[in-house]
Amino acid sequence: MEMTGFTENQLTVREAVGAVCSQFPNTYWQERDQTEQDPKEFHTALAKDGWLGIALPESLGGSGLGISEATMMMQTITESGAGMAGAQAIHANVYATQPLAKFGTQEQLESTVPNIISGQWRTCFGVTEPNTGLDTLRLRTVAKKQDDGSYSVTGQKIWITCAQVARKMILLARTTLLEEVKRPSEGLSLFCIDLDRDTPGLDMRKIKKMGGRAIDANEVFFDNYKIPGETLIGNENQGFNIILYGMNAERCLLAGEALGLGYAALKKAAEYARNRVVFQRPIGMNQGIAHPLADAWMKLEAAKSATYHAARLYDRSEKDKSIRQDAIGVAANSAKYLAAEAAFTACERAVMTHGGMGYAMEYDVERWLRDCLVPRIAPVSREMILNYIGERVLQLPRSY
Ligand SMILES: Cc1cc2nc3c(=O)[nH]c(=O)nc-3n(C[C@H](O)[C@H](O)[C@H](O)COP(=O)(O)OP(=O)(O)OC[C@H]3O[C@@H](n4cnc5c(N)ncnc54)[C@H](O)[C@@H]3O)c2cc1C
Repeated sequence: MEMTGFTENQLTVREAVGAVCSQFPNTYWQERDQTEQDPKEFHTALAKDGWLGIALPESLGGSGLGISEATMMMQTITESGAGMAGAQAIHANVYATQPLAKFGTQEQLESTVPNIISGQWRTCFGVTEPNTGLDTLRLRTVAKKQDDGSYSVTGQKIWITCAQVARKMILLARTTLLEEVKRPSEGLSLFCIDLDRDTPGLDMRKIKKMGGRAIDANEVFFDNYKIPGETLIGNENQGFNIILYGMNAERCLLAGEALGLGYAALKKAAEYARNRVVFQRPIGMNQGIAHPLADAWMKLEAAKSATYHAARLYDRSEKDKSIRQDAIGVAANSAKYLAAEAAFTACERAVMTHGGMGYAMEYDVERWLRDCLVPRIAPVSREMILNYIGERVLQLPRSY
């Protein structure tokens, strides 16, 4: 990657996080992928050096840096060879804590955030549901208020990353039924709950998946699962507005993760193309090999500019209220789309450049190709980003 133009903070983050990652070689990640074992040593190593609090306030033990630096951290992790497994081991701890840090009470913050930063507790993010998918606002999991002020949660979540190892979940649930609200964005509430396996009403099941296999993804079932009233983040029924705050940050982080995969794959491909001799010359001498790689690099560079532009807007909007939230939304969604597509192009071409060896585990590019489909699908699919840009920017009629 061309490093010109990054800030000193970003360069420092890249160097320091890179040093932690260098303790975890590609063979570590290959083995974790094969055995589907959680990379807990990696999570612990990052926590030990304080990286989980990169974008959390200093008053709570964080570093008080922004999403620009956190995006660089996530890119450095995937680029190190860790792939999506490395990123997903910490991803939710970095972004799902953003709405908590902004809207949580002092008591919630003090009792939760330091434990997440220190690595003692891990967090997951519970939004997606099997029957609503991308139509998030129609989600059906209900948190019903009880006479004593507590809530009883009933419903089902799916694809919840790290639920098996998480102590906390940032949960989006309905506190007013869909049938009783004027707009689907109303009646949702955000909670920071314990995932207490000893309390009745909580169950989870691992999903077998294509990539990032070291990290668990789960169906989570709630059946009258009791949570205290104090777990509510911000005001009841305002959950959607609160969660929006974390969503743009997450898009930036995912874009960074995608970029890291793409650059890692391209580096390996170029190395292989320089060294692999067929027909008595390096395969990289063939323009059929060189040009697709050069094209992939430029696509990554363009996506990189879009990504760090979006992250910068997000960070600057904290102080500069003239930066509109919808402008950040457009920038963050565009960045996530472009970075995911560029990563896919780079990873696919890296596999093809390696010929048969592209299919072998030891060359890593097959793992990164499997991984790079995640940023294309989640947290919002490329089709929904195209819909969003069509409607919001081009003012085209809504198609669904
Ligand atoms: C590895 C992984 C980890 C994840 N981790 C988490 C997590 O930690 N927490 C969490 O809450 N969720 C998580 N997710 C869920 C993820 O956010 C969803 O999978 C994603 O939002 C897509 O939703 P869906 O799978 O229900 O797709 P669906 O909504 O079923 O969509 C299926 C397809 O139809 C297309 N489509 C649907 N409607 C339209 C339309 N109107 N116009 C055009 N195309 C349309 C979509 O683009 C997509 O291609 C994860 C997913 C994966 C794969």
